[in-house]
Amino acid sequence: MAKIQMTTPLVEMDGDEMTRVLWQIIKDELLLPFIDLKTEYYDLGLEEREKTKDQVTVDSANATKKYGVAVKCATITPNAARVKEYNLSQMWKSPNGTIRAILDGTVFRAPILVKGIEPYVKNWTKPITIARHAYGDVYKGVEMKCFQPGTAKLVFEGADGTKQEEVIMKFTEPEGGVIQGMHNRCNSIRSFARSCFNYALDTKQDVWFATKDTISKKYDHTFKDIFQEVFDTEYKEKFEAAGLTYFYTLIDDIVARVIRSEGGYIWACKNYDGDVMSDMLATAFGSLAMMTSVLVSPDGNYEYEAAHGTVQRHYYQHLEGKQTSTNSVATIFAWTGALNKRGELDKLPELCTFAKKLEAATIKTIEDGYMTKDLALITTMDAEKVHKVNSTEFIQAIRKNLEATL
Ligand code: NAD
Repeated sequence: MAKIQMTTPLVEMDGDEMTRVLWQIIKDELLLPFIDLKTEYYDLGLEEREKTKDQVTVDSANATKKYGVAVKCATITPNAARVKEYNLSQMWKSPNGTIRAILDGTVFRAPILVKGIEPYVKNWTKPITIARHAYGDVYKGVEMKCFQPGTAKLVFEGADGTKQEEVIMKFTEPEGGVIQGMHNRCNSIRSFARSCFNYALDTKQDVWFATKDTISKKYDHTFKDIFQEVFDTEYKEKFEAAGLTYFYTLIDDIVARVIRSEGGYIWACKNYDGDVMSDMLATAFGSLAMMTSVLVSPDGNYEYEAAHGTVQRHYYQHLEGKQTSTNSVATIFAWTGALNKRGELDKLPELCTFAKKLEAATIKTIEDGYMTKDLALITTMDAEKVHKVNSTEFIQAIRKNLEATL
């Protein structure tokens, strides 16, 4: 069988620990035998980041800007323990943070649904995609402890010489209190809105967005106003033509609606809401190992990855020569997402079909009862149907199903 050809390389960002091990097995078993895989390879493993003083991360993000589509393996974000473990000269920043800062954009996370791994919410029959605004608010907040009586003020000195001033609180009690200042940029909110609407058109899903604008009449209301303005001026007609809707409501109303819904839409969240709600959704849909993630930049660059980390505990078992049963589904879907997007952009229908078939083969493998330990523990399938397999056996079982469809 002739291998499927590609025209433009994917930006391949390799990573760390157990996911790095899976990365190679996925390539060897599921990609290289079938595709004449073209990638521009960047090793974001911690050793290479140390060796290049993290330049490799910056280079990989710039390559994504050049080519438009990247696929990334999970990477270690160093903490004090990692600095010691890897003998690092610096506590290098989170690669995802660095890449996001260069590409800008919004992170979309969606669960992969399979029969036998049931969401806790019974009526969720379609995935719910969380779009998290990855800039500002409390994540760039400044805070103070003011443990005495006194007056806290919010002051803005305009470049044009004007001044705005508001009293936050006159603390009168002896122990005072705490204060916080945070911001967002109109430009970033506008990019966020565009990313959500573009992704909605791409994936043919409605957009739901919510803030607390009734309480936060200036801050949150600005999010609401900018979304509406961007929608009305740039997307309304395209949404109508695609039969899609944009729906705005209050954050408390939306959580009730999400629980009652059947899924199948994009839930756009401010930074903090997205942080909290994406973990809630991953758990409620069954497993973190079944959550995909894609960063979409406002100028149309895509970076696909699994939502989980490097599965450190399994890696240490692997190093001891023990069998692991690590779930590779989200990493496989990062590859299929990237290959499919490359296929769309380069007009290579064969590549898109391959990606779809690989996804279907992965889902079929689990639905046939072949699954890794994390899923075997939570499946609703009859125990006699379930075959708990190791990391490599799982990928080989997928290959068998894939070959049957090619
Ligand atoms: P993790 O996602 O690796 O693991 C969290 C828990 O979920 C663990 O109990 C793990 O066993 C389980 N789990 C996650 N993915 C699994 C899979 N595919 N199969 C089976 N079980 C799975 O997160 P962590 O333990 O908090 O972090 C480990 C490392 O990963 C850290 O160094 C962290 O910096 C990094 N990390 C990277 C990313 C990323 O690159 N996007 C995201 C999160 C964490």
